[in-house]
Amino acid sequence: MRAGIVLTLLSAALVAVAGCGGSEETGSGQTVVAAFYPVAFAAEQIAPGADVENLTPAGAEPHDLELSPRDVERVQDADVVLYLGEGFMPALQDAVADGDNSVDLLAGQQLREATEAHGHGEEEAEHEEEEESGLDPHVWLNPMRYAAMVRKTAQALDEPDAASDLVARLEELDAEFRTGLETCERRQIVTSHAAFGYLADAYDLEQIPLTGLSPEAEPSAKAIEGLVDEVEEEGATTVFFETLVSPKLAQTVAREAGVDTAVLNPLEGLTEEQIDEGADYFSIMRENLAALRQALGCT
Ligand code: ZN
Repeated sequence: MRAGIVLTLLSAALVAVAGCGGSEETGSGQTVVAAFYPVAFAAEQIAPGADVENLTPAGAEPHDLELSPRDVERVQDADVVLYLGEGFMPALQDAVADGDNSVDLLAGQQLREATEAHGHGEEEAEHEEEEESGLDPHVWLNPMRYAAMVRKTAQALDEPDAASDLVARLEELDAEFRTGLETCERRQIVTSHAAFGYLADAYDLEQIPLTGLSPEAEPSAKAIEGLVDEVEEEGATTVFFETLVSPKLAQTVAREAGVDTAVLNPLEGLTEEQIDEGADYFSIMRENLAALRQALGCT
């Protein structure tokens, strides 16, 4: 409800601003603060003329990102702040709470419940780390859910028609995933943190996360034993790890279960190296698809 009102006010303000000048390039002159990489990428594609700033530095992980006083100032001074709610980045959520310049890109999305860290059921509950509760924010890993974020971004930047190219590319990507993951020997993916629930739902895979929604959790030795058992029971051949988080847990579990490791990138940020190589949302999602096809034995 509140987000809806904010959005309406914001759109009205942007229409007023856009009316004043004959701007040449889409979004030109707007200052946009984006919470993290996928949001910044969408804003840059939709409004190439805007000054888009990614609040999460290259190589950093957005979960629980701390904001400097300078960051808070940038958030307050921006024309538009694009973020994800649901406690994904609590410091940013606090910083935007008082302003009327922010848009929660999760608003209006039907969100899935957070996946439990690993589904051993009640008998293992005493081994679990404190269970995270709430809703899963990782919508951008399903291309069609990301397309909804893209449309909302275009509205927020007052460029409702500028989303169509990007949405068409996302539909193409979705079709590639659908075809590429249609016929596979296995459908279970063992991931570092529980980021891939929307992707798993979309393509009929089952996610077995080593940790919960936030990647920094550290399971106990006993919990690790449970994870190793589970990997063996499921017959998984690969434990996936991520580029922005220490691979130690994934490597330990994989070694003890006698299986391989591979990268599955939750696209929470790019490293400097990936930026230099020109990687983007699409190239990394296609690398993810290739890694999944290999691990799951898809034909
Ligand atoms: Zn995450």
